[in-house]
Formats: sequence, C-alpha cells, structure tokens
Amino acid sequence: MTQPSDKALVPFVSVDNMMRLIHHVGIEEMLRDLADYIEADFKRWELFDKTPRVASHSDVGVIELMPTSDGEAYGFKYVNGHPKNTSEGLQTVTAFGLLADVYTGYPVLLTEMTILTALRTAATSAMVAKYLAPKDADTMAMIGNGAQSEFQTLAMKAIIGLKAVRLYDKDPAATAKCARNLEGLGISVTVCKTPEEAIEGAQILTTCTADKQYATILTDNMVGAGVHINAIGGDCPGKTELAKGILDRSTVFVEYPPQTRIEGEIQQMAEDFPVTELWEVILGRKKGRTDAQQITLFDSVGFAIEDFSALRYIRDRIKDTDYFIDLDMLADPDDPRDLFGMVQRAKP
Ligand code: NAD
Repeated sequence: MTQPSDKALVPFVSVDNMMRLIHHVGIEEMLRDLADYIEADFKRWELFDKTPRVASHSDVGVIELMPTSDGEAYGFKYVNGHPKNTSEGLQTVTAFGLLADVYTGYPVLLTEMTILTALRTAATSAMVAKYLAPKDADTMAMIGNGAQSEFQTLAMKAIIGLKAVRLYDKDPAATAKCARNLEGLGISVTVCKTPEEAIEGAQILTTCTADKQYATILTDNMVGAGVHINAIGGDCPGKTELAKGILDRSTVFVEYPPQTRIEGEIQQMAEDFPVTELWEVILGRKKGRTDAQQITLFDSVGFAIEDFSALRYIRDRIKDTDYFIDLDMLADPDDPRDLFGMVQRAKP
C-alpha cells in the first residue's frame, strides 16, 4: 500500500486532545494567549478577506461557514446554533475548523472547535472589555448560564481582573451548574433569582442566552449609566437580547458591520445606525470609552477572523507536542498526475 507523504498528512486535534492541551497550558493562560492572537489579528484587520458568514437557516437553528484569509493562511469554521438542542441533550453550538496554506492550498490543521469557540468568544469579550469597560470594573452580571458562561467569566478574570460574578438563568439548574463549575477558581460567585438582582453593583453586564426570538433579557430601565454591556447571545436574524431603547443610549462597538447588521442587536435599528469598528479602537484610530457615564455595548456576533486567530494559535501551540494525530485526508500520489494509477495500485 502507498504510504502518504508527510506533507500530505494533516494534524488533527480531537476533542480529547483539545482538553489535554487546555490542561497542559492552563485555561486562564490559554485565554490570555488567545486574546493576544485575536488582538494581533484585529490590528491587521485591513489585510484580511472579509465576508459575512454564509448561513443556512431552518426553523430550529442555523448552520454556518465562516471563512477568511490573511493571504498566507486560509481558515474556515463550520458552526451550528440550535437553541432547542439542549432540551434533547445536545449542544446549542458545535463546531470544527480548518486552516490551510494559501501557497499550496493544502490544509495544515483540522481541529474540533466547539470548545475552542467557547474559548475564543470569551477571549474576544475580555479583550474588548479591556478597551471599553469602566476602569477597575471588577463585578460582572452573567445572564444565561449555559455552555459559554464559565468561559466568559474566567476570561474576564484572566484578562481584566474580574473578582466577582452574579449569575442568573431562567433555568436554576443551569445557574447551579455554573456556580459549581466556578467553585475554587478564585472568583466570588453569587447566585441570583432575577436578572434585576444579577445586575446590582455590576459594571459589566454579559447576556449569553439562547432563544430564537426577539427576547428582552435586559429592559431599558435595567441599564444604568457607565456600564459595559457584553451582548453575546443575539447572533442570528430574528434572535436578539436587548431592548431597542438600550441601543439608543449606548455607544455600539462591532466586529464586522456587514455581518453585525444582519445578525447582531443592531438588526433592530436603521441601516445607518452609527457603530464603531473594534479594530479601529484597538489601533487607536477611534475612541473607545470616553467618559464614566457612557454606556458601551459590544454587539458580539463572532467573526471569522477570531476563529482564524484561534486556529493559528492551535497550529503554533501543538508543534512538538503529542496533542494531535496525523490524518491521511489528502490523496497525494508520487506522480501528481497519476491519481488514477494510485487508486489502481491499491486494488486488493
Ligand atoms: P446554551 O444553550 O448552553 O445556554 C443558554 C442559556 O440561556 C440556557 O441555560 C438557558 O436556560 C438560558 N436562557 C434562555 N433564555 C433565557 C432568558 N430569557 N433569561 C435567562 N436565561 C435564559 O448556549 P451557549 O452555548 O451558552 O450559547 C449562548 C448564546 O451565545 C447562544 O445564543 C449562542 O448562539 C451564542 N454564542 C455567541 C457567540 C458569539 O461569538 N457572539 C459564540 C458562541 C455562542
């Protein structure tokens, strides 16, 4: 049988290996590393190929492809969003991704991205909070205590020094799970019975719920001056979390406006509703938070460049480790034009 050449073998990071890698690096260290990779790519924003993600909607959810390239590498993520899945014992969001070499077009990494998405979404939230949250913000309300919630909390601890989190979910079992998981991780946890109780004394309000509807997780009168809102859950047409009045009072920051206008909280607003692109804030071209009374709002939907950064990080981090296996997924005959001959020679 023909042996695949080394250049045709594709490193594959399974769910199991991703978990081993996280424990090897340390989760907070990994969140900081990912935030650095994401921030570095936001600084190179202009050179990336950018397109709103390609979404295939159904009544129950969405399946999306998220491609981008910096001219040297090309990456994409496959991701779904199915809020009804948890009631069937399945994840709302699952994902895998691929990084390829632009010069040859050969893939150089295939990896699980369900866990990596939770890490990169949290790292992005905290990286953004570093620019927008009030100075010395140390308490966060975490509304929606599902799969993303512990990652969101730990990233804020690792990157901006969050000390306390106030949890609320409409399902008390989700809150109990989140509180249990955060035990002993160096963050003070308060379980709350209402969203109003959760936001008491919090300078950062994170909404991370899953429901395919125009929901009102935060009403206008719940949001006081000076807070930073990290709005994660509204990321699909017809799926939002914030009352429109909050958007009118906030300075809204986004990843990529053509995608956010379709999927984010601002889908509720006119097409010319003013937004600030985060990459410009990070490069110092636009202002982030300008005063203590301002409400800043990160209308997060998740953009392909964040996944590209995460893929780059995993490619670099697994070098010289055993946290991957090689996959024989590219047919690569010795004579490149003799694909048929290679098939014939494999005849049993
Ligand atoms: P999940 O299903 O595991 O958790 C969602 C939680 O929200 C559940 O515990 C549910 O009980 C709770 N919830 C639903 N409606 C609520 C309400 N009205 N009040 C309080 N709690 C409520 O989902 P997840 O994986 O944690 O994802 C959460 C959301 O974040 C999803 O909508 C997902 O699409 C989105 N998401 C966004 C990004 C991004 O980059 N912006 C990335 C990943 C996930």
